[in-house]
Amino acid sequence: MKIMGSKLTEKEWIRRKSMKKASRIFLIIILMICIIGLSVFFIGGIFKDYLNKSKNTTEVLSSRLLNGIEVKQMYLTPNDYSRPQMPLKKVKGIVVHYTANPGTSAENNQSYFESLAEKGTTYASSHYIIGLEGEIVQCIPMTEISYASNDRNKDTISIENCHPDETGEFTSETYNSLVALTAALCVEYDLGEEDILSHYDITGKLCPLYFVEHEDAWKAFRREVMIKKALLNSKIDMIDNDFN
Ligand SMILES: [Zn+2]
Repeated sequence: MKIMGSKLTEKEWIRRKSMKKASRIFLIIILMICIIGLSVFFIGGIFKDYLNKSKNTTEVLSSRLLNGIEVKQMYLTPNDYSRPQMPLKKVKGIVVHYTANPGTSAENNQSYFESLAEKGTTYASSHYIIGLEGEIVQCIPMTEISYASNDRNKDTISIENCHPDETGEFTSETYNSLVALTAALCVEYDLGEEDILSHYDITGKLCPLYFVEHEDAWKAFRREVMIKKALLNSKIDMIDNDFN
């Protein structure tokens, strides 16, 4: 019986030993999973930060180009009718529009574009809307197309402008912001006077009405944008020289 007992103890001892070994291997595996998990988490985080940084520079116009004019970002919820999230690969022009809805604000028009997702009947939007007080609302990142300028949606940035009455003439505040924003975009994408377009230039639609009916005002606007662009470029050169 004694021999039997010691045999059982030996079996028990071997069993315990192998259990200890197994639990040690199990712990090492858990530890390795944790280390790999943490590495993926940290490296992924750094990579995500990098992606976000490079994304921000293309989505948002740099503030130094806008000379302190604030752009309020109110991006539309992605949807088929106003923000299809199709990539805008190369910007070859800026298209100027008017809302054709007298007295409405920039935020009213942003809400209208947002509501198109639910209505599901009309396709329309704009990258920017300039309000009656000259405030600028951005609805779509510059890396995506908007539904504003028909055949030229694929390679242009669109700017909608609010206006107080049926004539479609902009307030001086709206006009000044339009000049500043268009000039900043011309610097950003290296565009010239011929790249500043009206909706009328593309489809013959009477948009923006006041500029269609007052060709001199349209010419003066484009000239003013080019002067502002030259000023911005010389300012940027001065700042860059200061840093060199
Ligand atoms: Zn238009």
